[in-house]
Amino acid sequence: MFTLVTGIVGRWRAICVTALQRPNSDAAAIRIVVWIAAASFSVKMIMRYLSRTVHLATRAGYRYGYHGLSTATGHTTEKSVPYVTTLKEEGSATKGPTKPLPKSADVVVIGGGSLGCQTTYHLAKMGMKNVVLLERDRLTSGTTWHTAGLLWQLRPSDVEVELLAHTRNVVSQDLEQETGLHTGWIENGGLFIASNKQRLDEYKRLMSLGKVYGVESYVLSPAETKDLYPLMNVDDLYGTLYVPKDGTMDPAGTCTTLARASTARGAQVIENCPVTGIQVKTDDFGVKRVVAVETEYGTVQTPCVVNCAAL
Ligand SMILES: Cc1cc2nc3c(=O)[nH]c(=O)nc-3n(C[C@H](O)[C@H](O)[C@H](O)COP(=O)(O)OP(=O)(O)OC[C@H]3O[C@@H](n4cnc5c(N)ncnc54)[C@H](O)[C@@H]3O)c2cc1C
Repeated sequence: MFTLVTGIVGRWRAICVTALQRPNSDAAAIRIVVWIAAASFSVKMIMRYLSRTVHLATRAGYRYGYHGLSTATGHTTEKSVPYVTTLKEEGSATKGPTKPLPKSADVVVIGGGSLGCQTTYHLAKMGMKNVVLLERDRLTSGTTWHTAGLLWQLRPSDVEVELLAHTRNVVSQDLEQETGLHTGWIENGGLFIASNKQRLDEYKRLMSLGKVYGVESYVLSPAETKDLYPLMNVDDLYGTLYVPKDGTMDPAGTCTTLARASTARGAQVIENCPVTGIQVKTDDFGVKRVVAVETEYGTVQTPCVVNCAAL
């Protein structure tokens, strides 16, 4: 189309120049005005023709299933969306469990998020053979699906620091060695920003804690932070805490890998199986004990339940 328009404009320019070079240039000028009027009319007609062609092509595309071009100006209504099923519907529990339910289990873990997958993996790794994870939908379909997957090692409590150090080892080394699958771990380092003096003091304490637990970290001045991360505006900062071996993981990749490693050790991961109740009975000492887990698809006898179903 561009070639067509430039061709027409070039042709008219040549005609005008030739006319003006003739001896009777007044008559030529009148002719040029007429020609320009005719030319603008021609271009207008061509543009109208092209516009009509594009409009028809769009309508034909919709009729034959191509939805790349749209002339709609309003909001997309639910009715006009061309697909009828969604990923959520495809993975919904109405399809039933992904595996037959066992009659009994040593432990039933409820929930296939980050916590449930980690729990199942660690129980299996500790030698428990008959561990069953029940997930109501698909793995990671809860909060874990939303997580950014950041793993920062320095926390104010020593238990958390040890847990995070262990998790970091599992995610960055153990799982890949066991399964050959990558969890999406990237060691890009972590930077905590102190926008007031109290926060900077806290970071100094965290750095001391890190020294005890072998977590490498540095408290940086605003200028040092700028050297490390030039894109950051450091004008209103008091400083930062830099932890070079912090990183990020892919939450879905991590849970899939945990599930793979767990099943390789004999655990069972069953999706599309919502837990609907927990049966208990009172023992001879008057203590309530778990005896079974109920689902829409049957009951699993078990003396132990780990509730990882989140809030
Ligand atoms: C936006 C956002 C960003 C975050 N970023 C980070 C981050 O960078 N780093 C970090 O460490 N944390 C982060 N978090 C927090 C982190 O995502 C959560 O702490 C973590 O995902 C919780 O995992 P979970 O397994 O306890 O819960 P969930 O992921 O919610 O898992 C619970 C599972 O239980 C299942 N379930 C529920 N009821 C039943 C039932 N009756 N029967 C069977 N299954 C059931 C659900 O379907 C779900 O899959 C973030 C959270 C959010 C929301």
